Amino acid sequence: MTRFELNLPANGYQGRSFASLIGRAPLRRATPGRRHDQSLPAPKDSEPVRRCRYAFALLLAGLAFGAQAELRLSLVKTSATTTLDAFTVAGGKWTQSATANHVAVLIEHHAATLLFDTGLGRQVDRQFAEMPWHSRQLMQYGAVRPVRDQLQRDGIRVDRILLSHAHWDHASGLADFPEVPVWAPYAEIEFSRIAAPPAILPSQFEHGVRWVPYDFAPQPFLGFAESLDLFGDGALVLVPLRGHTPGSVGLFVTLEDGRRLFFTGDASWRLEGFTGPREKFWISRRLVDHDRAATTDVLQQVHRLMQQQPELKVLPAHDALAQQALPIYPQWLQ
Ligand SMILES: [Zn+2]
Repeated sequence: MTRFELNLPANGYQGRSFASLIGRAPLRRATPGRRHDQSLPAPKDSEPVRRCRYAFALLLAGLAFGAQAELRLSLVKTSATTTLDAFTVAGGKWTQSATANHVAVLIEHHAATLLFDTGLGRQVDRQFAEMPWHSRQLMQYGAVRPVRDQLQRDGIRVDRILLSHAHWDHASGLADFPEVPVWAPYAEIEFSRIAAPPAILPSQFEHGVRWVPYDFAPQPFLGFAESLDLFGDGALVLVPLRGHTPGSVGLFVTLEDGRRLFFTGDASWRLEGFTGPREKFWISRRLVDHDRAATTDVLQQVHRLMQQQPELKVLPAHDALAQQALPIYPQWLQ
């Protein structure tokens, strides 16, 4: 059996296997027991049977306790690509390769099941044909396992999609969920309508996205002046990360035991972009960052936050190395 180690050194969870952190079993409907014939006296339980019943009651109580988990999440990996380290971050090595994942974050909150981004979807090959040829060479991708295929197999229904931003490799799977509302800031919805390839591929939105535009509240959160607490319980909080695109957002996820993760979209492709802080490779950033100064501000802001909160787990959307700390679907973190 594969063991996953959650690499969160400062919070005491290092070295715990995911067996103890994941695996909430899907709830099963209890089968009604066979009723005793009322005309006969109920048989008296022997001591071993009583012990068995006691153990069974404890087991049920344990399952019920587990079932009350408010939040769990999983990385759904839709594809990956190998590139040069130097292409992903300023000062990266030309002699070293880096793996870029295309993931969606699947989040089960007791109020709703959400996806943060969609990764590469069923129609990505057709969509990718819209990409200018020079960008196509830079943005190759490997074998694709669309989120919808993976979740459908297990009967998981998505209630809401949140986009970190509308770039092609985050929005590709939208067309596979035409019935699901897609939440994004007004600025990002506007960007998806006016931007052109390679940033935006219009075919990814032509099915008629059920947009739900939102504004951030003037509610400070961890150094961000604005935020949006999705369910009012602090478990899922969106913050603006304007720069990479006009309406880029990040998502803080706080687990029940207080551990906190921060999904940062493409503000940086690599964790080193925040720890440095370091921009993307200059050619890459000129190709993909909408506003260089604003993107640099975001890098510095997240850099400061990481210094203040070293236990915070920061997860750039494509950083396969950073994502090794998280379970890949169908494994869960809760
Ligand atoms: Zn992007």
